[in-house]
Amino acid sequence: MQAPAIGGVSIPRGGGQSIRLPRGSSLSDFADKIGVNPASLVQIMMHLGEMVTATQSVNEETLQLLGAELDYSIQVVSPEDEDRELLESFDIEFGEDEGDDSDLIARPPVVTVMGHVDHGKTKLLDAIRKTNVVAREAGGITQHIGAYQVATEVDGAERKITFIDTPGHEAFTAMRARGAETTDLVVLVVAADDGVKPQTSEAIDHATAAGVPIVVAVNKVDKEGADPSRVRAQLTEYGLVAEEYGGSTMFVDISALRGTGIDALLEAVVLTADAELDLRANPTQSAQGIAIEAHLDRGRGPVATVLVQRGTLKVGDSIVCGQAYGRVRAMLDENNNPVSEATPSRPVLVLGLTAVPGAGDNFLVVEDDRTGRQIADQRTARARNAEMASRRARRTLEDLFKDMERGETQELVLILKGDVSGSVEALEDSLVKIDVGEEVGLRIIRRGVGAITQDDVNLAITGDAIIIGFNVRPERNAQELADREGVELRFYSVIYQAIEEIEAALKGMLKPEFEEARLGTAEVREVFKVPKIGNVAGCIVRSGTITRNSKARIIRDGVVVADNLSVTSLRRFKDDATEVREGFECGIGVGYNDIKIEDTIETFEMREKPRA
Ligand code: GDP
Repeated sequence: MQAPAIGGVSIPRGGGQSIRLPRGSSLSDFADKIGVNPASLVQIMMHLGEMVTATQSVNEETLQLLGAELDYSIQVVSPEDEDRELLESFDIEFGEDEGDDSDLIARPPVVTVMGHVDHGKTKLLDAIRKTNVVAREAGGITQHIGAYQVATEVDGAERKITFIDTPGHEAFTAMRARGAETTDLVVLVVAADDGVKPQTSEAIDHATAAGVPIVVAVNKVDKEGADPSRVRAQLTEYGLVAEEYGGSTMFVDISALRGTGIDALLEAVVLTADAELDLRANPTQSAQGIAIEAHLDRGRGPVATVLVQRGTLKVGDSIVCGQAYGRVRAMLDENNNPVSEATPSRPVLVLGLTAVPGAGDNFLVVEDDRTGRQIADQRTARARNAEMASRRARRTLEDLFKDMERGETQELVLILKGDVSGSVEALEDSLVKIDVGEEVGLRIIRRGVGAITQDDVNLAITGDAIIIGFNVRPERNAQELADREGVELRFYSVIYQAIEEIEAALKGMLKPEFEEARLGTAEVREVFKVPKIGNVAGCIVRSGTITRNSKARIIRDGVVVADNLSVTSLRRFKDDATEVREGFECGIGVGYNDIKIEDTIETFEMREKPRA
């Protein structure tokens, strides 16, 4: 059916046909689905009063608006919805307990500790761990596996509590953003000598948004100047009114340092959970839950700490966890003791997965290994597609060049980060002086000193900018975000080289022949003096592979301190090695003596860039 032209563009109408688009789709994605030219959708949006580029990801409202205009019924699907549908196609329902009320039994609360920095969250988690009598008797030193369970006595009965061992609200919100609800209750730590601070109120906001009850631990009461009643008074303004003031929030005075008040706090957690929550789960079904932490362990392979939410996880079960699958080879608790079964709310370290899952990934027991592999494979394929889509969406210098070849007017948007303000200013001065005529412009939307941060990358995403790092590197999470979102980062250590390339790009002459390919990164743990060779770094490989003779640079606090080096010696224990993979320890020599603990050695090679 041909419609009357909208804004000069005529497009076949959908006749109410329903189309599904992933959250964050662009007009290009929309155009793909209905088989039209993206440019015509851009024009229609302009006619509707919105300036949107074809590849920019748009919000649901815009998609709906466009859908209504073209007579399509739009269904925006979230990644969680997509995953639910994937599991349904295997006849699996994730997130609901099987059976009816009579199948459910009580399970321990899962608690996250939040509060302002330095108010004692970590200390409190340590103190609680130490009260765990069972662990002490076993003589085991509790290991950090991401969560642990303790037992306490309330009204003569033994009650268990699970603590998430990563304090703060970042992990909590990251999990929730992925649709993983793990926390039942929040312990809010407020230092009695400092009172309510910004992150205290942030934590309250997050807990309230999640509908999770709060128990307040008023910490550091041993300190001079501690004023626990002031904390109670301050918190009434946030709706947390202590029982003694006629409210319903339990406040417990503690000293995490001295270990006092811990039992009372644990009791308050149990009582609050009993009063406000109905924590029950079906222990007899196939186990399901959430991965809390995971890493690649030398010798043991991928290990993941999972929190069982329903069912009972057993050694030998076939499981799938995010994009990883496998069979549970062994389970360990926080004291490194083997466990054969894990019931609801129990965190356990699981061995036997094929890959390292992400924190917040769901895990579930499946019928057999084959089902696990199929689900994992489909998730991997979907993640790859989503990544490709987002990569396509962002601009690169190459794209700019191509657009200009087509004669379209362009603007190059940049974010500049450098090691010292002098170099940033020098670079900016030179860049703005480049004059290549009317049709191309250059705009710098941020300049700053220090490592490239996640915030820089976020700004680049919204501003369609390219980030220039002059003698600086991205923080690890910033690099990950940039990779995921397809934001181009370019690194230079010589100003004229940066200017030449940008000028070439602006003139439409950019034909890079080589590009840097990152091979691996290693963290320096120790520095050894080796006669005749100089200093050698004892490292653990953090990503990729370290290869002998590859090019290398040294990064300290996000700043390049030495470049143009190469890996001249590489050793595993006493033996020379040609390459060392992620997760392994090694000795690296780069012919440079000023190496410090916590430096990062980054290795790379120059690869010829395939011409498009
Ligand atoms: P976090 O940033 O909230 O995890 O805080 P930490 O647990 O790292 O504690 C910050 C500082 O406060 C450390 O120096 C602790 O030793 C100290 N601290 C924690 N709890 C107490 C306490 O109960 N009394 C005193 N006097 N100091 C404490």
